[in-house]
Amino acid sequence: MTVSIDYRTCPLCEATCGLEVTHEGEKVLRIRGDRDDVFSRGYICPKGSTLGKLDEDPDRLRTPLIKRDGAHVPASWEDAFELIESRLGPVIAEHGPNAVAVYLGNPNVHSMSGTLYPRVLLKMLGTKSIFTAATVDQMPKHVSSGLMFGHPDLIPVPDIDRTSYLLMLGANPYESNGSLATAPDWPGRLQAIRDRGGRVVVVDPRRTRTAAAADEHVFIRPGADALFLFAVVNVLFAEKLVGPGRLSDHIDGLDALATAVDSFTPDLVAAATGVGAERTREIARALARAESAAVYGRIGTHTAEFGTMASWMVDVLNVLTGNLDRPGGAMFPEAAHEQTRERRGFRLGRWQTRVSGIAEVRGELPVSALAEEMLEPGDGRIRALITIAGNPVLSTPASDRLDTALAGLDFMVSVDIYVNETTRHADVILPGASPLRRPHYDLAFNQLAVRNVANYSPALFPLPDGTPDEWQVLLRLGATLSGQGRDADLDTLDDGVFGMMVGSATANPASPIHGRDPQEIFNATNGGRGPERMLDLLVRTGPYGDGYGARTDGLSLQLLSESPHGIDLGPLRPRLPDALCTPSGMIELAPDRLVADVPRLLASVERVLNGRFLLIGRRHVRSNNSWMHNIDVLVKGKERCTLQISTVDAERIGLEPDGRAKVSSEAGALVVPVEISDDIMPGVVSLPHGWGHDLDGSAMSVASERPGVNTNRLSTGAMDPVSGNAILNGIAVDVVPA
Ligand code: SF4
Repeated sequence: MTVSIDYRTCPLCEATCGLEVTHEGEKVLRIRGDRDDVFSRGYICPKGSTLGKLDEDPDRLRTPLIKRDGAHVPASWEDAFELIESRLGPVIAEHGPNAVAVYLGNPNVHSMSGTLYPRVLLKMLGTKSIFTAATVDQMPKHVSSGLMFGHPDLIPVPDIDRTSYLLMLGANPYESNGSLATAPDWPGRLQAIRDRGGRVVVVDPRRTRTAAAADEHVFIRPGADALFLFAVVNVLFAEKLVGPGRLSDHIDGLDALATAVDSFTPDLVAAATGVGAERTREIARALARAESAAVYGRIGTHTAEFGTMASWMVDVLNVLTGNLDRPGGAMFPEAAHEQTRERRGFRLGRWQTRVSGIAEVRGELPVSALAEEMLEPGDGRIRALITIAGNPVLSTPASDRLDTALAGLDFMVSVDIYVNETTRHADVILPGASPLRRPHYDLAFNQLAVRNVANYSPALFPLPDGTPDEWQVLLRLGATLSGQGRDADLDTLDDGVFGMMVGSATANPASPIHGRDPQEIFNATNGGRGPERMLDLLVRTGPYGDGYGARTDGLSLQLLSESPHGIDLGPLRPRLPDALCTPSGMIELAPDRLVADVPRLLASVERVLNGRFLLIGRRHVRSNNSWMHNIDVLVKGKERCTLQISTVDAERIGLEPDGRAKVSSEAGALVVPVEISDDIMPGVVSLPHGWGHDLDGSAMSVASERPGVNTNRLSTGAMDPVSGNAILNGIAVDVVPA
């Protein structure tokens, strides 16, 4: 058989690295970084080279499974959908569509079908019970962006390739490869800041690999990022360092903001944050005086009690120092598939969860509330669940309670590549596709990239005969649950969905195809059926598109297909005020909903811990949330699911270097190997997330040999009340030798 080389974009994390895949037929021989990729230039992490192993993994599902007498057995697609129709149909008929919840896991945003087709399924099903991984991760950013800029997806990213001062909080891109700021090779890009005379400052309760490589690392107490950021803003006002520059005429609420931060002096918050008052002032002055600067806060900052407050202040700092929307500051990417957004403003809380009354954001409800929505009796109880590419039993809070709730459901369907700790509860599991057997264009992360790029990869290998594409599985699920029947014609359905997309584009005055004949556009679109056809439409009507003939050298799926190393669309460009979607057309610096939460933050200054530890999470470059733990080359070697604790704390409570510790919270207790380290702040302990592969009924043979412990068993399910995001960092725990 011939050996071939093809180029693909890695879909595993947000970095979107280009891969060079050498293969013989469907056997991958080698994967390395694509040196000609316009964005990643050959960079690759250990995970990217294992896509062949994932494709070959014997535990990866290739056929549907049905649960019979408590055990999963292989089934035909026909039998699987027949069971879904016969069991879920009556639940919907009797209790309505909201009785069926849908959980969308993180891998969905790394897949074209997973990004485009769940929304079709949700519309067909008609449920408002939508729970997502975004609510254990990034919802604070969506809320603050929505309220400040008018759209929850209008998220500025640090222009790291041009900045001269980068302040990072709760982010460890040396391990995560970046998040809500897409950039392959963060280590190289951060080093480049220093090489050109700039400065990188990391604020984190751990001296992470990123912090160790920075010019300056500042320890901070977990959960106190918002207090610290309020104090930095306070200094800007107190020392008259506020200078929004070009955006001065486009900001609203400056006086209200000054009032909101007035009490948060560096001295007031110093004890609560652990950051000395003078150091806070120095950072504020450095930010204000830097030639260009960007403040960037990520998961440790967002998954905390005051995550939305912190996210708000990150962008306030970028505005007040004149760094929002300018080269070297924090800028708004413009992806090739981006469609013009209407200036409608942003609303949250259009509906709430039944039990605790937590507000929806972007139509999504917090997964921390999913278990109680299933367990609490009464009208509106969730009785059935569909999970798509998710493992919430490991990756979301109060795991034990959720595990119990799933066991008591009337019916559960999962679309997944494994029988994991969550899908083991499913009555039917429909297999998802291996990443090498589906096309890829990063719909989510091109919108967050630090450089405008477009990179499309067709599927490298075909699906096995008789296996439907993921989009067909999701569409068929929608047809089955919407009463159109499991045998509905999927091509007709997909044409209908696509026809509606075309109809909205031709009706949109801001679209380059406004007023054109929808049928002409429909017929002129390439990509066959499914997500690639949608991509062609999105790219051709996007900011660099050919507009279906309006621009001769514009982008199209055809052009992307002819560019295996991607297309570089240039550095980020200033986009304000045009891109703002607030009804006022201004940047709202002091939205009422955020200002209303300030007293709660202020009250937190007084908190005392009474000797308890604060728990934080951590990442490792070989791990990817709860997935990829079944790939031997990624999990072998030294135990990585350990409790990190400082030397001084270990000695104080009598922990031995090779010992084990019992960690307990109000929610549960775990016993875990100890790792004593001077890289963690005294009073803080750290556990990685995504582990705990020791539950009966899952079928991941490699993962179960190195199960680790599930840190989410220690979480009570508490949330940031503004965004509904889970509080995963700063949980108070007790630690004793086990
Ligand atoms: S950094 Fe992310 S995108 Fe790049 S190779 Fe690793 S997993 Fe893939």
